[in-house]
Parts: sequence; C-alpha cells; structure tokens
Amino acid sequence: MVAAAAERVVAELREACAAPAARLNEVAAAMEAEMRAGLREEGGSKIKMIISYVDNLPTGNEEGVFYALDLGGTNFRVLRVHLAGKDKRVAKRESKEVSIPPHLMSGNASELFGFIASALAKYIASEEGHSNVFDDDKQRELGFTFSFPVRQTSIASGTLIKWTKAFSIDDAVGEDVVAELQTAMEKQGVDMRVAALINDTVGTLAAGRYNDEDVVIGVILGTGSNAAYVEEASAIPKLEGELPKSGNMVINTEWGNFDSSCLPITEYDEALDEESLNPGEQIFEKLISGMYLGEIVRRVLLKIASQSSIFGNVSHTLLKTRFILRTPDISAMHHDDTPDLRIVAQKLADNLKIMDTSLDTRKMVVEICDIVTSRSARLAAAGIVGILRKIGRAVPGDERRSVVAIDGGLFEHYAEFRKCLESTLVELLGEEASKSLVVKLTKDGSGLGAALIAAAQSQ
Ligand code: ADP
Ligand code: MG
Repeated sequence: MVAAAAERVVAELREACAAPAARLNEVAAAMEAEMRAGLREEGGSKIKMIISYVDNLPTGNEEGVFYALDLGGTNFRVLRVHLAGKDKRVAKRESKEVSIPPHLMSGNASELFGFIASALAKYIASEEGHSNVFDDDKQRELGFTFSFPVRQTSIASGTLIKWTKAFSIDDAVGEDVVAELQTAMEKQGVDMRVAALINDTVGTLAAGRYNDEDVVIGVILGTGSNAAYVEEASAIPKLEGELPKSGNMVINTEWGNFDSSCLPITEYDEALDEESLNPGEQIFEKLISGMYLGEIVRRVLLKIASQSSIFGNVSHTLLKTRFILRTPDISAMHHDDTPDLRIVAQKLADNLKIMDTSLDTRKMVVEICDIVTSRSARLAAAGIVGILRKIGRAVPGDERRSVVAIDGGLFEHYAEFRKCLESTLVELLGEEASKSLVVKLTKDGSGLGAALIAAAQSQ
C-alpha cells in the first residue's frame, strides 16, 4: 500500500495527461491548421513552417566525398562520407563525436563556432596521410546541420531566430550561422565551403529518402522534437519568386513551438516551463522530448514526497534538484521486468538516494513513467497524423506507400515510447489506411542527410 496522498497525486496526473483518440484528433487538426497558417505568411503561426530551400532530395546517384557537421543537442559530430552512386551508395562513412563543454552553450557565438571549427580542423588533420581520400583540385564541401530555428534566405545561409534546448547564446541570435561558421573555419585554416545549411529534421528526411523514395516526413525525437516534410511548392503562399522545377519544397515545421488549448497540460508542465530557459516557448517540445520527460517525472515525485513520507524526508531530498532524473533513467525504470523491480530500486537509490522503497512504491514510480511517456508518444503520433492529413497521405483513398523517417535517442532507445507511438498511429489512422504507412528508424540521419544534401546541391 502506498500512502493515499500519493495515490491521489498519481490519479490526478493520469487524468490530466489523458490523451484519448478524440483529443488527439483535435491536436492533429490544430496542428494541420497551424501548418496552413504558417505557410500562408511569415509569422502566421506559432509554428514557423520554415522554407528550407531544399527542393531536391538525394536520389542515390550522388558521387564524391562530402563532409557534414551536426550540431543540435548535447554532442556534435563531424562526418565524412564517400558516396559512390546508385549501386554502391555510401562506400565509406566515418564520424567523430565531440561533446560540447556546457559553458559553451551559454557563452558567446565566436567561442562556440571556434570550438566547432577547431574540432573540424583536427578531424581533417587526422585524415591527412590517408591517401586518395580527396581529389585536391576540388574544394571540400560541407553540409551543416544546425538544429535550431533559423530563418533561411538560401540553401546555404540563414539567421538564428532563437535558441532552444540547453543552448542560450545571446550574441548569435539574428546572425547568419553559416557566416559565423565560415569565419571560424577560416581562422582555423580549414579550406571548405558550406554548401548547405539544414535542420536535423531535413537531414533525416534526406537520409531516409536516399534509401527509400517513399519517405515524405522526417521527425526528430531526441533531446528536442521537430518534423520536416515534403510540401507542394504551389501550396506555400509565402514562397516568393519562381517555383522550383521539382515542384516541391521541404518545409521545416518547427513543431516544437506548437501550442494549443487542446494539449493535455499539467501543473508540472506549467512549472517546468516557467523555470525553463525559454518560458512560454516550445510547449509541444516540452511535453514530448527527451530533454524534459525525466524532469516531468521528477516534479511528480517531488509532489508526492511533499505529501507523504514514502520517499523519505522532503526537507533534504535530492528530488528538489532540477534535471536530476534524465529520460534514460525513466526509460530504464519503465522497462524493468524483474519481479521485484530491482532496477527501479537501484535508480531511486543511485540517483536520488531514496532507499528501501516498497514494491508498491516502485510500481507507482513505473506507472508515473508510463503516464508521462505515453502522453508524449501519443502527442508525437498526433503531430505526425496532422502532417499526413495536410499532405493527404495515409488517409482513406490514398493508396501510396508513405514512409516516416524518425531519428533521435528517445525513439531509438525507449522501446515503450516507440511501441506506443506506432500503435497510436494505427489507432488514429485506422487499420486500413495505416497499412500503407511505414515508420523507419533513420539513425544518424541528421548528419548523413547534411552530407547528402551538400552532394545533391553540388551535382
Ligand atoms: P540530440 O537530440 O541531442 O541530437 P540524440 O538524438 O542522440 O541527440 O538524442 C539524445 C536524447 O535521447 C537524450 O537527450 C535523451 O533524452 C534521449 N535518450 C538517450 N538515450 C535514451 C534511452 N536509453 N532512453 C530514453 N531516452 C534516451
Ligand atoms: Mg541529433
């Protein structure tokens, strides 16, 4: 038996997080309406519907050696790929991951870009000596994945609108991030041209498309959350100038900033938002993405600790420490299949110094993880359904195969999340329509996609 007060908190949470199909359909409809508003005019919606200037996705025929930089979450990556055309595809792929020192996430722009450029310089220096990796007559080309909202002005330029996730570097806002990178690269003596500036969602879409021509949507479910998709250029009123020859344009929705009165928002979400780096913004992302799920669960546990004694003395509990529970911890507890929930006990002990919990208390913790994660996965599914309905895919009467490429640690590693997302898609689309829908994990799409788009641009 857990204390009645604790049970009450959980019951209220369950109620407040409920996302039955009817509500999710409202969310999908609101998403679709916001998408249309954002396409109509600049500033028409909270979701920016950014024109990516990517009007041709890779076909598989691309050839040559291309580089990519992937910056967006906790780590950043340098990649080099050798593309060998239709049959051989990615003949060689190498990458190096570097973690970003936290102080650089809130310092100044030149320090951050200097750090990135120096990591790139080191990477290139380490490949010298590898013979034949590069034809020296040709300048190296780089795709830059920068996973924050950017107002793009062309395929290879764009100004930062705002930071999200754990980044907050004031002097970079409003600046052209490609120019900043290019300057930092010159300082490091790196002779490379930034051929494409893309978002990780666009990269995931491109990488998915490279391997499967039916990919129409790219989604990120990692530290943050966002989606991109292929739109008909003629359906974008705010697109100026001539329509692209392909007739298509990739749109980066920036759905993380979606907000609607139909979202199931709790007191915990409101407090999390208020105390965040970006209050009032990225509301959908704060309900869904990996940066926040653990933090939401912590807030629920703290409330229980303040109303009962099952987690020990509240006056010096570690539960007051923000972000002490991470989403991978939530995932580990949620997947605990030992009969006595040993992993839950261990996580509570190791992370929070909460010892000697009863089995019922541990079961309750698992249930809280389940409530928070199910809401997240179901809302993510509703967002995808909103996009599918916007483009008339996987709806009754549409026979075409449609593939959604998804990347990100949350989707990749959190099996319960993934299962819930997939079953919710079927629930919302119906058995019949969802037969033509495929969800594909597209690992490392954000980095590979940048190299692929750089390649597609240069041919
Ligand atoms: P990013 O989004 O930073 O580019 P990833 O796509 O690798 O990076 O996603 C990392 C995020 O995925 C982490 O912030 C975390 O929230 C989530 N994550 C990583 N591992 C797990 C896990 N085992 N279970 C659940 N979520 C995880
Ligand atoms: Mg990423």
